[in-house]
Amino acid sequence: MISKKMKASLEKSSVIREMFEEGNRLAKIHGAENVFDYSIGNPNVKPPEMVKTAIKEILDEEDPNFVHGYMSNSGYVDVREAIAQNLNKKHDLNLTFKNIAMSVGAGGGLIVVFKTILDPGDEVITFAPYFGPYRAYIDDCQSILVTAQSHPGTFEPDLATLEAAITPKTKALIINNPNNPTGVVYKEETIKGIAALLTRKSEEFGHTIYIVSDDPYREIVYDNIKVPYMLNYYTNTFAVYSYSKSLSLPGERIGYIAFLPEIEEAEEIEQCLSNATRNMGFTNAPSLFQRVIIKCLNETVEVDVYKRNRDLLYNHLLSLGFESAKPEGAFYLFVKSLIEDDKAFVAAAKKYNILIVPGSTFGCPGYFRASYCISYEKIEKSLEAWTKLANEFIK
Ligand code: PLP
Repeated sequence: MISKKMKASLEKSSVIREMFEEGNRLAKIHGAENVFDYSIGNPNVKPPEMVKTAIKEILDEEDPNFVHGYMSNSGYVDVREAIAQNLNKKHDLNLTFKNIAMSVGAGGGLIVVFKTILDPGDEVITFAPYFGPYRAYIDDCQSILVTAQSHPGTFEPDLATLEAAITPKTKALIINNPNNPTGVVYKEETIKGIAALLTRKSEEFGHTIYIVSDDPYREIVYDNIKVPYMLNYYTNTFAVYSYSKSLSLPGERIGYIAFLPEIEEAEEIEQCLSNATRNMGFTNAPSLFQRVIIKCLNETVEVDVYKRNRDLLYNHLLSLGFESAKPEGAFYLFVKSLIEDDKAFVAAAKKYNILIVPGSTFGCPGYFRASYCISYEKIEKSLEAWTKLANEFIK
């Protein structure tokens, strides 16, 4: 008999998966070319050519037992040192390999951080709307996810609701910037405000409140907008990164956790991240892709492809009367539903073969998310379907 807890989580986590299956079902009936699947954040831009070159070079030139072997739980020292130096250059920091733990994507990095800092009953705050799996990660640590709010319209974090959500049990705040599902990039003054508030509250309670900065979209930004890097603003930060989006490698499961040498209990943190990686059963981040990353540190996918997609879909939806913050990063639009019941709206969209995700999945009912990491041609083809959908509700 399977675990009751897992069974309950199955019911909660099924929305995006169901959408995926629905896409396959509709594709069989109408043909894949007539189904407009905006449900999943699976990058469609090709990985940079250098990724392929690096894989070939490594396989041709390096000892296979080394390339495919075990290493320290936190990853290869040379890879970690190269990442540290790259971050130092980009963000004016003083990291060494000791401040980097390689992870199994951002998801693997987040759970390793939570296992490192959380005790049962601890509370972790995040801003709604938020990436759904946070709840499962926190739940798995027998801790509690608490939500603060974002300002409707801009989706910048609302600091008054953050302050109200903080209690003596608060252990951490998760920030996701650029944000999934809104595509919003938080302003520097917001980040400074959050840092000041958590510093004050940590002093008041006599214990650290950490920031866990979930950064898989850090490189996916438009018009050279600067994304404030949390390690520059708050000492007790874990910055969790992933190459899933910046190099279009989501299936390869490669990322890292970075923290400052000045973080409280730095040495123990380094050991705990390593232990948690082993204890979770990851053992280490994928070996081959650690070796690939060291050769691709300055590579990113062609972000302009996403920007073109954003402009096409955003402009069309606004012209139809939809309301949405203009995304400055990631590849999602978070749009106000034309009726209050976001699930009913998502069901209505399916009639036109448009697959989108209800805002309630992200703790923010009354909205829907459209992932525009699909081809430009597919978006163009879908515009008529969006018009028909809008006409059903806007008279
Ligand atoms: N955090 C956010 C906000 C995400 O959108 C995703 C993936 O879509 C992840 C974490 C997980 O990323 P990864 O595939 O690197 O585990």
